[in-house]
Amino acid sequence: MPAIVLALLLAGCANTSEDPPSPSTGDQPDTVDADGEQDPRGDGTDEPEEPTDPPGPLDGFTVVIDPGHNGANHTAPDVINEQIDAGGLMKNCDTVGASTDDGYAEHEFNFDLATELRDLLEADGAEVVLTREDNDGVGPCLPDRAGAANDIDADAAISLHADGGPPSGRGFHIIAPAEVSGHTEDIVEPSRDLGESVRDSYAEAADMAISDYISTEDGIHVRDDLGGLNLSTVPKVFLEAGNMRNAEDAALLSDPDWREDAAAGVAEGIAAFLE
Ligand code: ZN
Repeated sequence: MPAIVLALLLAGCANTSEDPPSPSTGDQPDTVDADGEQDPRGDGTDEPEEPTDPPGPLDGFTVVIDPGHNGANHTAPDVINEQIDAGGLMKNCDTVGASTDDGYAEHEFNFDLATELRDLLEADGAEVVLTREDNDGVGPCLPDRAGAANDIDADAAISLHADGGPPSGRGFHIIAPAEVSGHTEDIVEPSRDLGESVRDSYAEAADMAISDYISTEDGIHVRDDLGGLNLSTVPKVFLEAGNMRNAEDAALLSDPDWREDAAAGVAEGIAAFLE
């Protein structure tokens, strides 16, 4: 009797199987080949393979680049002088920015460096958003510059600037957020990490020294008066890439080849922070 019951159970199992044996089932796997790619069956049911870019080291990361100021800000004082809540203090919506003595405007430098940086980060797989797509407009105001990164919960954000310092002063510095109650508590620490990473790679790639006219902690100037930092909810720093009013710095900032190196340094620093 037990033998008959077992035979019936086995027969039952076989008969109730909902999956008939696949005609192609054998000892060889039929779905993945040695390259890990789908193995066409030749029966016309497979989707054609779509070419895909190889994964980059920054795949899955989102970075917002904020090129400071804008090309037409000087034409719209009513807009850019509007007073905005900058996170604990009132500030202008935006400002005109600096310039070299030869007339290379900071807004143009910032945009040039930003597009170089965007291309490099995108080539490594990052998704990149700029706070302005050209250099002909007005603004955006501080809250929108910060909001561009906040809205998509970016992994990192950087605001690109060049300083209008004393003509005798040289060098670059990073600006990182101070702790501003109710605003920056969560980003102070990661922003400092981001700042130190960008500082190190930028100094080397741009071959530029830390500012000799701004008092910093190893190149990091901690400030509580910048809306672009106070209003950020993601790790963010400013780069003051050099002093536009200094002849030697201005010559570098105006040189497209130098800007390529400088952008590579910023990209490397952001990547090191993210990875
Ligand atoms: Zn600026």
